[in-house]
Amino acid sequence: MTAQAVQQEDLAVVIGLEVHVQLETDTKIFCGCSTDVADDEPNTHTCPVCLGLPGALPVLNEAAVESAVKVGKAIDADVPAETAFHRKNYFYPDLPKGFQITQYDAPICQDGELEVEVEGERRTVGIRRAHLEEDPGSIQHEGGSIDTADYTLVDYNRAGVPLMEIVTEPDFRGAAEVRAFLAKLEEVLEYLGVFDSQRDGSLRIDANLSVVPGEEIDDGAISDEALEDANRTEVKNISSHKGAEKALSYEATRQKNAVKRGREVAQETRHWDESRGITVSMRSKEEEKDYRYFREADLPPLRVSDWKEQLEIPELPDARRERFREEYGLSAEAASKLTSTKQVADFYEDVAGEYDPDLAATWVADNLLGELNYRDMAITDVADRLGEFKRLVELVADGEITTKNAEEVVLREMLDEGDDPETVIDREGLGKADEGAVEGAVAAAIEENPDAVEDYHAGEDGALNFLVGQVMQKTGGSADPGSVNGLLRERLDE
Ligand SMILES: [Zn+2]
Repeated sequence: MTAQAVQQEDLAVVIGLEVHVQLETDTKIFCGCSTDVADDEPNTHTCPVCLGLPGALPVLNEAAVESAVKVGKAIDADVPAETAFHRKNYFYPDLPKGFQITQYDAPICQDGELEVEVEGERRTVGIRRAHLEEDPGSIQHEGGSIDTADYTLVDYNRAGVPLMEIVTEPDFRGAAEVRAFLAKLEEVLEYLGVFDSQRDGSLRIDANLSVVPGEEIDDGAISDEALEDANRTEVKNISSHKGAEKALSYEATRQKNAVKRGREVAQETRHWDESRGITVSMRSKEEEKDYRYFREADLPPLRVSDWKEQLEIPELPDARRERFREEYGLSAEAASKLTSTKQVADFYEDVAGEYDPDLAATWVADNLLGELNYRDMAITDVADRLGEFKRLVELVADGEITTKNAEEVVLREMLDEGDDPETVIDREGLGKADEGAVEGAVAAAIEENPDAVEDYHAGEDGALNFLVGQVMQKTGGSADPGSVNGLLRERLDE
């Protein structure tokens, strides 16, 4: 090993995150405009409040506060009895008021944590704070980038959409941990029903990353002094788990190489360029004092004293996983698959409540999720058809159709053609063969295969299986192999 390589390995990466998530509410955080703006014309979801017109006053959306308190409960944070809103002052065309309403020194959630599993090991990530704020509008540079565009358009449809900014402690030691945390955070938020990961732009990540000498890390923790000594960069414009892992791997390597060559890492903001797979320097970072935070005088202090006790939150993924293992006797892997989203877990419990839990697990985790995954679909894409899939499990449980046909024909055609199970079974003639037909096929198989019959009487094991196969073929796979087996023995032993 060269001296340089040793030096490089001695460097440890320290990452903290600021994650912006869009809260799922019907209306914006300070006005009655709809948040459902996805495909609508620009500037059609606006009013004097979200356009920042003089004299317009904000009114806080109760649903956004409820969502924030639920998040606080889920991450085991302190929710102070009284919190407040502040103005963060800066000028940018997407911010018509000239300030953003946010929370500064009294965030609604403080000192929380989230447990994540990284490579089989459980770790706790500290969450310093989580606060409510409004989204700015969106800016579109026509005909190029910010430097080269012919002109720029501003759309205020997003202005005032409720966001929660979740700020972690610098607890991550690598990009893979960040990815695991983001997946877990999304999972918890979706269980709470306050977030939709499928919505465009619903997750945006900024990350602070620095490299420090490895000896400064003591049992996973890093001293405040070491962190202050290290220059850090803020990486912006990350919008997915995968993007986060790539951007932070890149940035960690870039900083390590700089340190290794004896260059100082500049304290700066860098932009993640997804298409080029690199981070580029943006501008020197504003400091907190540049924003001139002060209390938002148009909103009174927010008192949420006992909301945390009153609001109910659903069972969270980790607890549900544990219960599935105990209550239904599932393996860790099956329990994990079946709790991957709340919709999957709810559907599994619905099916397991009526049929054998193992059969239900096979059908939901392996068959249904497997076929959906193959088609690049999620359970939410078939949310209104879950009754049909449950009927298919019922048909299998009642022996109305063979498992093989249900898996290989009916389920697949239900997904590809959009038909219900009965329609596919009728069309493909997969209904259970009637007794007469099975008996006829048994008689014919014996008649047509005298050699196999002879082998059976001579005690050859394979002969019976061969005859069962013949009967299954004659009935188009619709007979039950077990009863065919019994029926054949009866006839052959007569
Ligand atoms: Zn509005």
